[in-house]
Amino acid sequence: MADLSKVRNIGIAAHVDAGKTTLTERVLFYTGANHKIGEVHDGQAHMDYIPEEQVHGITIMAAVTRASWADHVIQVVDTPGHVDFTIEVERSMRILDGAVIVLDGVRGVEPQTETVWRQRTRFELPAIFFINKMDRPGADFRRSMESIRERLGGEPIPVCVPLEGRVVHLIDKTSMRFEGDNGEQVVSEPVDEATWEQLSDLRETLLLAVAEVDPELEEMVLMEEDPPAELIWAALRKATLAGKANPCFGGSALRNQGVQPLLDGVIALLPAPKDRPPCVAVDAAGEEQLVEMENTGPFCALAFKVQMLESRRHVFVRVYRGTLEKGQVIGIHTPDGMVQERVARVFDVDANKKSRLNKAEAGQIVLLAGLRKATTGDTLCDPEHPLLLERITARDPVLGLAIEAQSTKDEGKLLDALDKLCQEDPTLRLDEDQETGQRILRGMGELHLQITFERLQREFKLEVRAGKPDVVVRETIAGSGSAENLFHRVIEREDDTLEMKGWARVSVSPRRRGEGTEVVARGYQVRGDDEARVSAAQAQAIRDGAQDAAATGPLEGAQLEDIRVHVEAVGVYGEASSPQAMRVAVAEATRKAIAGASPVLLRPIMDTEVVIPEENLGSVLGDLQSRGAVIQNTQPGEMSSIRCDCPLDKLLGYTTDLRSMTRGRGQFTMSFSRFDSV
Ligand code: GDP
Ligand code: MG
Repeated sequence: MADLSKVRNIGIAAHVDAGKTTLTERVLFYTGANHKIGEVHDGQAHMDYIPEEQVHGITIMAAVTRASWADHVIQVVDTPGHVDFTIEVERSMRILDGAVIVLDGVRGVEPQTETVWRQRTRFELPAIFFINKMDRPGADFRRSMESIRERLGGEPIPVCVPLEGRVVHLIDKTSMRFEGDNGEQVVSEPVDEATWEQLSDLRETLLLAVAEVDPELEEMVLMEEDPPAELIWAALRKATLAGKANPCFGGSALRNQGVQPLLDGVIALLPAPKDRPPCVAVDAAGEEQLVEMENTGPFCALAFKVQMLESRRHVFVRVYRGTLEKGQVIGIHTPDGMVQERVARVFDVDANKKSRLNKAEAGQIVLLAGLRKATTGDTLCDPEHPLLLERITARDPVLGLAIEAQSTKDEGKLLDALDKLCQEDPTLRLDEDQETGQRILRGMGELHLQITFERLQREFKLEVRAGKPDVVVRETIAGSGSAENLFHRVIEREDDTLEMKGWARVSVSPRRRGEGTEVVARGYQVRGDDEARVSAAQAQAIRDGAQDAAATGPLEGAQLEDIRVHVEAVGVYGEASSPQAMRVAVAEATRKAIAGASPVLLRPIMDTEVVIPEENLGSVLGDLQSRGAVIQNTQPGEMSSIRCDCPLDKLLGYTTDLRSMTRGRGQFTMSFSRFDSV
């Protein structure tokens, strides 16, 4: 891959069921990467290569695939739509240059479309739309475009308009049919006058959009001249790269309609690596540096995914600058500092096929073997030129369950397996319950945990026992309070007595949600003997004592958040006030103060959107309210939607309940919003 201008790194993103996988299969087929089309409903899709995905019919692991089209290379990262796996979407977005967002032509923009759109906006990714399922009754191209403007605030610009059994190209002025067994033969003819007339409003939208970025075109449009196609393409590309246009292509992936012109659009309208603004990195001196995507200059890459393949650890990276050869030693910026490792092998990526490469170049996405330390979000660089790229943010898991091996002899094997899975997935975590010694596996949702179990069984041949899912809680205080505590203990020993004594007064008060905990342990009053003063070791112990007690709450021993602890006064009594004694005295005073300051439990609140047939709206609303949901808004319609804030613990098992309330037609998505008292 020598010429970077001929590379397009794109992601295909959408609400679940819009047709991403079906579309990707067509892309692979038409580009010759695949010899036959696998269908999702047969469990045969190429990109859904993990058995769990085939069972659940959804895409879980983002996989990178390369395809050639019109003398270009398209690298597709298939992104999962289920909200439990948003970390995968975010990882992919980060290393992409452009996005194709798929809409269901009947439903238009859906809740998850909004989520991916927000992520796209965060990384300023140019995006084009494929309005899919235009074969379905009720599908409406214009209305779907309208939903892009209204619900996303995008700039939908029509390019390919689907009309019964064909697609009309507004720039090339052709009417296309897709013939052959799989629509592989594109038969184009000039558009007839009547059809062209019928689409005049859409042509107008297109022309006005390009006129805005190109004065020459503006002139022509004003004079009502017909601008040449090349000019329109160039202007539309410019507008798309600048985020001012979102070209829309319509069709039906399942019926093989309109996919080839979309591929042309990807190449013509989405950026090559070098068209993207350089990325910002921080160097060893803490100075910001711009990293241009080019083969010359010190090596710099981002690890965006760790995956076990054939039980070996592999790291997916995007190379931003310089080149990487097998055997090369690189510096890795881990959260714990810089380490050096040797890259044993470099592979090309294509779902579950691997082929070795001698060298990776800037702009490429490759798979590296031999790195034991690199994890998701780490910057890889030339050890002589340390650089740090912005980390990928992983969210804290909100749901957990107790887990153990069916037979105790498998315990070690289970820990090994879980360690591997947690390395692959930063939103999965294994904790130990301090009191019961039980292992708790935590993740982003029920499906997330369920799939982890299935993988333990299938990939690691482990039988596991799991408890009921339990939501992660936090604690805070609703009021203020203060308490004092005298710690005094005399321990009789064989030939002497040991006295421990310390006193403290501590006050606590709540801080605003999200502000974090603050411990103030300086400038306090010192009491005790006449010459009482606090040594450095005692001062440290006083601070530690307050911090110990501020870590967990009195209600469930959960993490305590957003409080202010103020050590107001301490009492020191000569030798008896050892650092240890002071630490206990302060911790106990802090605990008492917290317990007296109206502690409250905080539960994860999920931003939830439910989509249901209108006839079920009343009953589903009522049910949500009985679960403690606070309704934000309701949009009635053939498929109505409800947006609400709902405590996660009340949503366990909701998928099944919603299905039975709506005869299988209801859907819902949720994403973590905040910890809050209910
Ligand atoms: P994903 O969840 O976005 O990956 O969606 P899938 O590709 O798995 O498709 C979801 C369902 O919609 C499957 O049953 C597909 O067969 C169906 N589907 C996909 N594209 C079309 C289309 O263009 N027309 C119709 N009628 N159905 C489609
Ligand atoms: Mg899929």
